[in-house]
Amino acid sequence: IRKNPHEPEFHQAVQEVVESVAPYILENPIYIKHKILERMTEPERVVSFRIPWLDDQGEIQINKGYRVQMNSSIGPYKGGLRFHPSVTQSVFKFLAFEQVLKNGLTSLPMGGAKGGSDFNPKGKTDFEVMKFCQSFVTELQRHVGSFTDVPAGDIGVGGREIGYMFGQYKRLTNRFVGVFTGKGAEFGGSLLRPEATGYGAVYFTQEMLNTQDDSIKGKTVAISGSGNVAQFATEKVIELGGKVVTLSDSSGYIYDSEGIDTAKLEHIKLIKNGYRGRISQYVDEYPNATYHPQEKPWGVKCDIALPCATQNELNGDSAKLLIDNGCKCVAEGANMPCTPEAVNLFHEHKVLFAPGKAANAGGVATSGLEMTQNSMRISWTREKVDDKLKTIMQNIHSSCVKHGREPDGSINYVKGANICGFIKVANAMITQGVV
Ligand code: NDP
Repeated sequence: IRKNPHEPEFHQAVQEVVESVAPYILENPIYIKHKILERMTEPERVVSFRIPWLDDQGEIQINKGYRVQMNSSIGPYKGGLRFHPSVTQSVFKFLAFEQVLKNGLTSLPMGGAKGGSDFNPKGKTDFEVMKFCQSFVTELQRHVGSFTDVPAGDIGVGGREIGYMFGQYKRLTNRFVGVFTGKGAEFGGSLLRPEATGYGAVYFTQEMLNTQDDSIKGKTVAISGSGNVAQFATEKVIELGGKVVTLSDSSGYIYDSEGIDTAKLEHIKLIKNGYRGRISQYVDEYPNATYHPQEKPWGVKCDIALPCATQNELNGDSAKLLIDNGCKCVAEGANMPCTPEAVNLFHEHKVLFAPGKAANAGGVATSGLEMTQNSMRISWTREKVDDKLKTIMQNIHSSCVKHGREPDGSINYVKGANICGFIKVANAMITQGVV
């Protein structure tokens, strides 16, 4: 706290990891001797920069840009870019720190980073988004590269933004290389990358339920968010026979007791991706559903909850509501959506709980597969990528079980994920010396 003042999100993420790995480190003092935790919590590099651009009225606009390059011991820095007015250095440091351990869990050679800007894409024209992205990359290009740092999407950054950034990078450097992932399939993007985080979170949920001889079929599922992760988590739950009853955005949530089916989901994709509208517009088309402004969806009756919007969106009170309503399984599609109070309650009440660094790792894993395809200059089929994604999610689940088994036989996925990611990165750091 003294070294990193006013960074509450970063402290929260570090504290959770330290609590999980401390007993393991005490049993293995080599990690103390090499000061691994102290080194892991200090970013290798943080860049922050000015992003000037002209809006459609010809006015000069200025935003802040960041890239936190946290750890490169197991591969080039890798992690998403977030465009949202709420971002701070603390948010990017927490996301980058989580990313290091998450990427360690995937078993692919990727270090951890995160970045983005306080730019708000909402209400901006396509042309303004393009001009912003071009100015952002004009500075960012000095710090990234296919062997250095490979950014991807996150909140507010999807295919459109990655396309504009890739175009500007190519123009500035005269190199057609896989410097971003989440690209369009026409220019090197991996099939299934847009779906991968949401699908992966549901594959992980399925694995957790398997440990109790249960499955998603017939289950009622509450999902928050209605962006990339939420949409594809919904799609996979429907495919596996579950019933999704909620989706949300930062203005409120919709509840559809009949379940969101494939046709309704297509309509949501049109609202959110087609004309960049609000989730409230769902009830205009489906009047049997209800819209709840300024509320979160955690008060509804459900068997499974998948928070897929943003950090700290599910607190202790929400966790109590979910538990009282019979929720048996929670998997984080978003990064750190559950507060520490919520996570403690889930553990106390033996709710199966998966932290984001395990449950949402399918996105970055498929970005890793995109990097491989780009290096090999080939493109794998959707089926091949999906097979690899499933295997990666199963392997992450097994690693969590291996390191997270409690004396009473239950599985603490937070502990399992943190220890497994830590070992991989820490051992690489020790082998590479004091760098
Ligand atoms: P999107 O921008 O596509 O969607 C974000 C969704 O969350 C929107 O519905 C948005 O609503 C909502 N949201 C954002 N901020 C808030 C807030 N403060 N309160 C309530 N709702 C909010 O982002 P993604 O789906 O890509 O990302 C969602 C989460 O998943 C993030 O935590 C991200 O870090 C994580 N993640 C994403 C990965 C990916 O591959 N995309 C990979 C791994 C993790 P609104 O439209 O009103 O802003």
